[in-house]
Amino acid sequence: MNEITLGAITVARVEEMHGSVGMTPEQFFPGSPTQTWQANRDWLVPDHLGGADDMVRTAMQTWALRSEGRTILLDTGIGNDKSRPALPGWDHLSLGYLENLAEAGIKPEDVDLVINTHLHLDHIGWNTRLVDGQWVPTFQNATYLMPRADFEHWNPANNPDVTAGVNANAFEDSIAPVRAAGQVRLWEGEHVIDGSLRLIAAPGHTVGSSVLMLSSGSDKALFAGDIMHTPLQVSHLELNSCFCEDPATAATTRRELLGWAADNGALVLPAHFSGHSALEVARDNGAFHITGWAPFPAYEA
Ligand SMILES: [Zn+2]
Repeated sequence: MNEITLGAITVARVEEMHGSVGMTPEQFFPGSPTQTWQANRDWLVPDHLGGADDMVRTAMQTWALRSEGRTILLDTGIGNDKSRPALPGWDHLSLGYLENLAEAGIKPEDVDLVINTHLHLDHIGWNTRLVDGQWVPTFQNATYLMPRADFEHWNPANNPDVTAGVNANAFEDSIAPVRAAGQVRLWEGEHVIDGSLRLIAAPGHTVGSSVLMLSSGSDKALFAGDIMHTPLQVSHLELNSCFCEDPATAATTRRELLGWAADNGALVLPAHFSGHSALEVARDNGAFHITGWAPFPAYEA
């Protein structure tokens, strides 16, 4: 079952894709010692590291929440039909994401709220879809919450450099059409969604990166966005992905938020972990260790 219950909230895992990212650990996490990966191979393989090819393995997934009668999607993957010249593996995809969403009982028109934890291309793709040659909001009845700092940073009108980088085209095809439809709400600092859910700023990976905190009944959870990309970062807080824009701040944010999760017994649900996707952590000698995994079935390795 791809769904769990936390207090009064249901959380479904909706896959877009999973598998190799086509990068070795040393490429994906620049400066990370090969020795560290080797020492942890026994448990990282096969879900988080390829046994045969030694490539990092991740997932693209949406956390779909039902809370206080509303349907909420957290991050929207890479999207179909998008032109991604810098990333051939993500260029002009044609995946059954909407079918997977339907399997979780969610039709696009049912979605009340879309949250983009940050505005990298792999978190905003299904914000829009191509209809008759035009990008239109996929979720026509939803409000889309976006961190203001990222909205301003990734807007080519403010920062022309972004048109040549990893996020090329992404603002134009996945954000601007939603803004034009009047469905974007920008927030900063902290944003209360309902009695159980709040967004807080978690900068480092990008300037506007955020996480979603859940507290319902006795259950707590941290929807951690991109504060981590491999479970090895639980014990090795210093590792940063090549996509983390401010590595020092990203590491500080990671330490603080995992501390909150450990001290509150919160389930941690990052955006990109493959395998069982979500985990629990405890403090361990200045860092953390993994105490268990969520009951989501492991993705096929
Ligand atoms: Zn990401």
